Amino acid sequence: MNRFSYLKAGNIGEAVSALASDPAAQIIAGGTNLVDLMKYNVTKPSLVVDINGLPLRGIETLDDGGFRIGALVSNSQIAYNKEIEEHCPMLASAILAGASPQLRNAATTGGNLLQRTRCYYFYDPSTPCNKREPGSGCSAIGGVNRIHAILGASDSCIATHPSDMCVALAALDAVVEVQGPDGARDIAFADFHRLPGDAPERDNTLASGEMVTAVRVPANGFGENHTYLKLRDRLSYAFALVSVAAGIEIEDGTIRRVSVAMGGVAHKPWRNQQAEQALVGQPVDGANFEAFAGALLSGAKGQGHNDFKIPLARKTVLRALAQAVAGTPQIQAEKAIR
Ligand code: SF4
Repeated sequence: MNRFSYLKAGNIGEAVSALASDPAAQIIAGGTNLVDLMKYNVTKPSLVVDINGLPLRGIETLDDGGFRIGALVSNSQIAYNKEIEEHCPMLASAILAGASPQLRNAATTGGNLLQRTRCYYFYDPSTPCNKREPGSGCSAIGGVNRIHAILGASDSCIATHPSDMCVALAALDAVVEVQGPDGARDIAFADFHRLPGDAPERDNTLASGEMVTAVRVPANGFGENHTYLKLRDRLSYAFALVSVAAGIEIEDGTIRRVSVAMGGVAHKPWRNQQAEQALVGQPVDGANFEAFAGALLSGAKGQGHNDFKIPLARKTVLRALAQAVAGTPQIQAEKAIR
């Protein structure tokens, strides 16, 4: 591990100033990803800014019934928050599908958004990787790419974003609150993570010196008809091959609102809001859902080892929509693959 300086930030302004003054500075909160990255020499911060003393640990219910979740709230605190379980259960379900209890106790909201890809080559400094070392090449293209992207990839990078929580936040139209040298601003969740393009070293749209301070989740979180369906190589403690967060509102057999985000398939949670709009006003029926899945996966392209993800994703979308319509029990343990 590289030598680095350490700063315990006393307030948000101090953290932002430290980040802005040193491009190689990194924030540490739960440390569940950063410490691994530092141990593997993937990330070599010159300065580690510890934000654990900042007042970012609250979950507030907003006047409109939505939630504001501080950047330091742990994944477990969200998943077992009674209000969130009742009004926004898709989010709780997605979080419980990820990691292990120990990791969820340590991992934070901000850290979940900022976690890096689990591409094997990214974690192996002996191999070329454009995300770790821009311009060095992509070992996954033509290499072992079973877990890689089928949508939105580029010739520079085919990595996926590993988060479960972010897939639900994308489906819920969350908003990311950030603070930087120029003040505070909001970023729509759909605009927070980016596709790799020719700059895969950048995972998100945070500007230099900006840090995540909170996430707002709007009211109307599909309390009844929702699901988070995650398919992976084993039932617990594994990243998604494909996951789907689906919420739907139905009135007299007609779709009034629908939101579907996919995880494990792209560099960011994947949605197609035009295809969602096309479902509104339509009857709940298999043919409509088939057409929707086709539109959501339009342009999907396998890399060889991950070709199986394309039909798997289609089936997962259909099954997730069927579960959402049926109001299937949402306890992760009941979602065994039989
Ligand atoms: Fe690196 Fe992205 Fe290629 Fe993985 S897919 S080796 S992260 S450039």
